[in-house]
Amino acid sequence: MLNLESDIKFIKGVGAKRAELFYKLGIFCVDALIHFYPRKYEDWTQTKTVSEVNNGDNISIKATMITPVKEHMIRRGMTLYKCRFSDGDNIINVTIFNNTYLAQSLRIYEDYILFGKIEKNLTTAAMSSPKIEKIDTGIRVHPIYPASGKLTSNMIAKVIKTALDNLDTIPETLDIGIRKKYNLISLDKAVRSIHSPENESEIYEARKRLIFEELLTLQLGLLKLKSNKKSKTSIHITKDYTDEFLPLLPYALTNAQQRAISECITDMQGVYPMNRLLQGDVGSGKTAVASGIIYTAVKNGYQCALMAPTEILAQQHFESISKTFRNTNIKIRLLTGATKAAEKREIKSQLMEGTIDLLIGTHAIIQNDVAFKNAGLMITDEQHRFGVKQRAALADKGEDIHTLVMSATPIPRTLGLIIYGDLDISILDELPPNRQEIRTDVVDSRYNNRLYKFIKDAVNRGEQCYIICPMVEETEESVNLKSAEQFAEELSQTAFRGYNLGLLHGKMKAKEKDAVMKAFADGDVQILVSTTVVEVGVDVPNATIMVIENAERFGLSQLHQLRGRIGRGSKKSYCVLVSDSKSENARNRLMTMKKYSDGFKIADEDLKNRGPGDFFGERQHGLPNLKIADMLEDIDILHMAQNCAKEILAEDNNLDADKNKHLCENITKMFRTINY
Ligand code: ADP
Ligand code: MG
Repeated sequence: MLNLESDIKFIKGVGAKRAELFYKLGIFCVDALIHFYPRKYEDWTQTKTVSEVNNGDNISIKATMITPVKEHMIRRGMTLYKCRFSDGDNIINVTIFNNTYLAQSLRIYEDYILFGKIEKNLTTAAMSSPKIEKIDTGIRVHPIYPASGKLTSNMIAKVIKTALDNLDTIPETLDIGIRKKYNLISLDKAVRSIHSPENESEIYEARKRLIFEELLTLQLGLLKLKSNKKSKTSIHITKDYTDEFLPLLPYALTNAQQRAISECITDMQGVYPMNRLLQGDVGSGKTAVASGIIYTAVKNGYQCALMAPTEILAQQHFESISKTFRNTNIKIRLLTGATKAAEKREIKSQLMEGTIDLLIGTHAIIQNDVAFKNAGLMITDEQHRFGVKQRAALADKGEDIHTLVMSATPIPRTLGLIIYGDLDISILDELPPNRQEIRTDVVDSRYNNRLYKFIKDAVNRGEQCYIICPMVEETEESVNLKSAEQFAEELSQTAFRGYNLGLLHGKMKAKEKDAVMKAFADGDVQILVSTTVVEVGVDVPNATIMVIENAERFGLSQLHQLRGRIGRGSKKSYCVLVSDSKSENARNRLMTMKKYSDGFKIADEDLKNRGPGDFFGERQHGLPNLKIADMLEDIDILHMAQNCAKEILAEDNNLDADKNKHLCENITKMFRTINY
């Protein structure tokens, strides 16, 4: 008999050599083996006859072997076996390549099931290298495993089957109360069914149970991580200076901004470092929140840094925050790739001396040789533009430092809990008052002439316009898509002859991009033709029109980000989505943009339409690998698991209770490979 801890080399049929192949996949013991799940199944339950199927179908056929196997040696190392089967009405010519073992095991007049692709014409039917099994073996739904190298799916299936046959009931890991409430089968049944199901519904029940457990483990693990990983900080904010900060602003903060500031300051007054995400729609005023907490941190004697993803954005932050703090003695410097060497040296030495209070900049500020005397607070803007590593590098500029990351990508709350499971979250769910509502229209290209006139009228009044195209280069499959380059060229020759057009795309060097963006911000470029590289939070209040070509190609959240580039000044702004798509679905999606201006609502719609894939790309690398769950497919089970996680923690916050012991073990296993 085996148990879960047994080395797989003790499974019958697995020698040292084969065991090696499994070890390479990270499978050392029986426990890991039985949780190595099939990628898909071949359904052999529905057998057909030749007359019922079409040429090229993948099918299973019940057939009798009617001629003995003939062997043809084609060349050295290549043997062909041929024989005939009959399904009662039709003859099937079967060819087997090289598989001597299979060829020799076939017996004339026996019944078999053939599984594979059929080639069929009016007179003959043939199968080339079908899978063949004796009719009485009983396995009808065949699991297909991710084969690797010498380890074939069949081999894996066999080894797992042998292991399960020699294993007692697999100990249950979920409390019976949970299983009843969420209608989950036992672990033993689930594991056995996932590897050898009788039918579809068994697969469904098994998957549901295993996915639930995996997502529950993930959610609980992330929540626990959040409370565990904290080591105490010596950076204490003793006094809250917000009352002194407020009069520095030309406006009153929204309630949401005030709440966010006070959540941050409460964090920083605590014994653990702040580790918080500030999420707020474009234009919700995240910069003011950042300024507010920077003010308090500086007044408490600490240095701060604010990192932005681009030169232009860093520059804008520097200008606006310098303006806010102009009547204070807070010393602010800007450090980017463009900073002159001599100035860089000066900034670095002043940072070490502690004479700079706030450093604003790009990646340049996480270089190794940039060191602070007394750093207390690090803020990352537009965090999705940075990797986890870069954020970590910033946090490393001080000991147990307080960190805030800011993001304008609205993420539906359920996903936020997973993606940002290790962060506390503040949300700005309120826009500053008197915001101009942006008018959004969906049109097709027949409208172009009127649209161009509309743009020219605005530009002639001194306003500016963005035109966004989805791609940089023309590729074969996208001949109808306008590349930004080609499109800008075309427009400058035709509709906008005599106007100043700028071009911005992802293949340009950072310096070139910044130069163009600056020319646009300064008003020298009137019409900016761009790919989505412009979506980062740049502020050009004078830009009042956003035209998005081939709008159907963009995700809703991305469209929302782009639209957020306008409506930043006092003038009425317009977003025009141009699409010639005939698809009703595409049209409805675009109409969502007309209907909603709230980024969270739009994100929810996006989630409904496209699944969470887009939200995940950004941080996926920080999460443990999942064996069976797929956030894209299993969102319903995710909701259940999140509910369940909340209930469990409400009752047993540290997972100390005996009945939660297995969950703790699950968490340890899942997070073992992740370095947080
Ligand atoms: P985002 O959250 O997109 O980074 P910003 O911080 O750039 O937004 O703010 C957008 C604009 O709104 C800025 O021009 C800023 O001065 C202004 N703003 C921020 N908060 C308020 C407020 N409470 N009342 C009025 N205007 C505000
Ligand atoms: Mg911003």
